[in-house]
Amino acid sequence: MQNALTVDVENWYDASLLSPYVPAGYRDDRVVAATREIMDLLEEFGVRATFFVLGKVAEEHPGLVKEIAGRGHEVASHGWGHQLAYRQTEEEFEEDLHRSLEILERLSGGKVKGYRAPSWSVGVETPWFFDVLVRNGIEYDSSLFPVKTPLFGSSDNPRHFHIIERKKGRVVEFPASSVRFGGKTFPVGGGASLRLLPLAVTKWGIKRINREGMGAIVYLHPWEMDTGIPFPPMPFRTRLLHSRGRKGMKKKLRKLLESFSFHPMADCLIDN
Ligand SMILES: [Zn+2]
Repeated sequence: MQNALTVDVENWYDASLLSPYVPAGYRDDRVVAATREIMDLLEEFGVRATFFVLGKVAEEHPGLVKEIAGRGHEVASHGWGHQLAYRQTEEEFEEDLHRSLEILERLSGGKVKGYRAPSWSVGVETPWFFDVLVRNGIEYDSSLFPVKTPLFGSSDNPRHFHIIERKKGRVVEFPASSVRFGGKTFPVGGGASLRLLPLAVTKWGIKRINREGMGAIVYLHPWEMDTGIPFPPMPFRTRLLHSRGRKGMKKKLRKLLESFSFHPMADCLIDN
């Protein structure tokens, strides 16, 4: 079973819900050290992963993209400016994607095959989404979230890996991982659920997904392991959602690496 390990490379203040509360003076750029910490851990286990890198991070830190590729990981796109896809027009989205692909391919020296939208912001409001990906040579996507949350996702989204056929081509879709339990669907193995839920729940979820014949997709952000973020004042719930559980993340990731095998997402394409 091919489980995929994925990292969305962005700064802590790029997170969509947090960003409006972070004034310029608080924008302490910590992405390089935080991403390197993840890469060092992966290296201990000889694991390669997919890094969905934000174009603007690549522009600010070209050496980081070269390092990700140089250490054997897959470089994929997280767009340029972390704009929510459903708040963009088709043209704006395409420009944002194209700009990210240009810099990521130049720095990594390889073709970018994969894309993940900022904050899973794809849905009924973005009917053009997959056509734009096809036009720009993207082979797989991991932007559908099969659970409705206040910011993103829809319970109408499929839970399983599937192929999206468009007039001019096809895109393989790997939705965020979820489990069905008690007649409901719950996200598992990534972001806030990985950080906030006990590790045992994540491990149970991954095993359950594997028993369904699917690979699980684990995802995290570099800032989720960074305990030194200088959070400015913000609503208590927003702060809690982004800060809680960071201390235990490294240990959790280590345990997952001990318990399961992981691969870059592009490798899962070959399998499916
Ligand atoms: Zn993001």
